[in-house]
Amino acid sequence: MDNNNKDYKYCSCNIIEHGFDAQIDSINLCCRVSKEKITGKHVLIPDYNGRKINWDDFFKITDELRKYQKLGNTISQCQGCIYLENKAWDNEHYINTININNWIKCNASCIYCDRKEYLHKKEYKLYPLIKSLISNNYLRMPVDITIAGGEPTITSDFDKVLKLFIKNKIKPVRVLTNAIKYNRYIEKGLKEGLVNILVSTDSGTRETYKKIKLTDKHDAVWKNLKKYAKNQCETSLVKTKYIIIPNYNDSNAEISAYINKNIEADIKSCCFDIEISIFYRNSNNKEFMQRMYDLYLYAKERAEDTELEVLPFDRMQLAINKINNI
Ligand code: SF4
Ligand code: SF4
Repeated sequence: MDNNNKDYKYCSCNIIEHGFDAQIDSINLCCRVSKEKITGKHVLIPDYNGRKINWDDFFKITDELRKYQKLGNTISQCQGCIYLENKAWDNEHYINTININNWIKCNASCIYCDRKEYLHKKEYKLYPLIKSLISNNYLRMPVDITIAGGEPTITSDFDKVLKLFIKNKIKPVRVLTNAIKYNRYIEKGLKEGLVNILVSTDSGTRETYKKIKLTDKHDAVWKNLKKYAKNQCETSLVKTKYIIIPNYNDSNAEISAYINKNIEADIKSCCFDIEISIFYRNSNNKEFMQRMYDLYLYAKERAEDTELEVLPFDRMQLAINKINNI
């Protein structure tokens, strides 16, 4: 079948077709990690500093990627990725998936974070880029938008960008915030069901929080989480995350404290992940995977008979798959 035919099936994913990742000095294809050793991110626009994007030129670049996939190839970054799917993708030009990863600023210093390598970079404004997408009608619902860090709420035009999404009723917009600073536009988005947040506390006690985040903000974070949860119009909009880091927070006592904090803050959904570099270093270690799985099962057991759901996230799901030979 002619590979320009709309019924032609090929292996791709929604981000290859309709997405991009705004990084600190480039527009990339995607920020996901599909395997242990990534040979580099796929850059769509290098040396990006916030300048105006000509969308016709942008879609010429993504058309080339589509052509490559249609020929049966797989972009290096995407090899082995669980999001690849064989189907008849549309040939249209629009965006429905955006990741924003501006690493410049953060008010924590998590021990597992790579942010330090970006400290010398200069922040650019995102608002003109998003405004141009919307006013050219290239942003199509339903969208999948993630604003991540550093800490997004302390970047210079976060409020303006979030207000723009809220004003245009664009949803869902996921904000990966550490919740150290309370943000009233996040609150507004939660009230209107347009925004959801995911907050990695990775701990249930102040001592462990300090050891992992290198800042003493445990109490402030849970206070803000409680306030966000109170303002959400659906119970699933405020979620917390616990990234298991062996030798820091891999104890039943810490997990138990974390489950209690969620219940106290009236949060209804939390998830468990495994620190990425440790996970991949142990990818063939069945004992390690079983230990991670057991901790997850313990968390589920602790939340039993409460309204809190406990879910596996990314690497935890992979560990469960490995244990169950899926
Ligand atoms: S296949 Fe995976 S790594 Fe590639 S763009 Fe899609 S989600 Fe990202
Ligand atoms: S809160 Fe996020 S960006 Fe900030 S140090 Fe922690 S992991 Fe890195």
